[in-house]
Amino acid sequence: MSTKRDFYEILGVNRDASPEEIKKAYRKMARKYHPDVNKDDPNAAEKFKEINEAYEILSDPQKRAAYDRFGHAAFEQTGNAGAGDFGGFGGFGGFDDLGGFGDIFDLFFGGAAGTGRRRKTGPQRGADREIRLEISLEDAIFGVEKEFELPRMEKCERCNGTGAEPGSNIKTCPVCNGHGQVRNIQRTPFGHFETVRTCSRCHGEGKIIEKPCSSCRGTGQVRKSRRINVRIPPGVDTGSRLRIQGEGEAGIRGGPPGDLYVNIFIKKHPKFERDGYNLITDEEISFVKAALGGEIEIVLPGGEVYNLHIPEGTQPGDVFTVKGKGVPYLNSQRRGDLNVVINVKIPKRLTKKQRELLEKFYEEETGEEKHKKGIFEKFKDVMG
Ligand SMILES: [Zn+2]
Ligand SMILES: [Zn+2]
Repeated sequence: MSTKRDFYEILGVNRDASPEEIKKAYRKMARKYHPDVNKDDPNAAEKFKEINEAYEILSDPQKRAAYDRFGHAAFEQTGNAGAGDFGGFGGFGGFDDLGGFGDIFDLFFGGAAGTGRRRKTGPQRGADREIRLEISLEDAIFGVEKEFELPRMEKCERCNGTGAEPGSNIKTCPVCNGHGQVRNIQRTPFGHFETVRTCSRCHGEGKIIEKPCSSCRGTGQVRKSRRINVRIPPGVDTGSRLRIQGEGEAGIRGGPPGDLYVNIFIKKHPKFERDGYNLITDEEISFVKAALGGEIEIVLPGGEVYNLHIPEGTQPGDVFTVKGKGVPYLNSQRRGDLNVVINVKIPKRLTKKQRELLEKFYEEETGEEKHKKGIFEKFKDVMG
């Protein structure tokens, strides 16, 4: 009862598609759902991931064969593999930028080869879930605790997850005799081929429910809203992925729950731009301050005020680096830097006094007299 879609269906190919057909279908779908061309579609990234996952399996003959035989169960994690890779955030699995898919394969094709043979009627691990979480730049720098509501499938209390109305009968499936799978032997000139398919009568459950539970309509699961607390450590960036173990969909028939993946997106900040672990900001200063030098106050993310010294003779576009005022490195005391790009402002209007001073400055600089009074101004002087 995995909520995962069929890999063939995802790529829109038949089960007997050739490797070329699969490749072609994948290219077409990948182009269509590439997140770069679907910036407005929040589902595109998910879809793109799904397509890649399907292609990763179906393009590899060994993995494809395993998938054909065992379905998604072939690639499900059996335990808490990979948990605590990064450690340090109480109770959570840690960060996982690769998506954790590779180690699932290692688990199946590596040492624990037997685990993929699990019968479909046995306990099944719940599906993983993924959500997108937008946080501010300040939250990414200082870390934050976020609480949100997440609806997910949980065991139905009314039928205790069996799917049968309390008091009604559950009988063994007559088609597969409770195995959940039907074997089929095909004779071909190359020998006998045995295929194992999920029983279509009981959909692999091995049991037939006579009267489905009125609360969950026979699925054994109901959708419930859950409050989830996530502690986001300082230093995350867009694309960081936080795994919260056990907060995915509920397991089936006593199987462990799946994991929840939180994909971090950092909102655009009005003043600071992020470049890896460094921050960049523009500061505008008057041409006088640029020439004479002085101090400027920069309000850093989080509210700290930093006094930046501007040396005499600063030019437009000069960059001043403030060490250690950038973004902290994940799980480290180290911090990036703040780069301040100076813009020099030329006044559009001058007061009378400013004009006089600048004219004096001009005369000092060039040795020419700047101001020759026109008739109108002479008149104004007279009228006072
Ligand atoms: Zn059956
Ligand atoms: Zn129920």
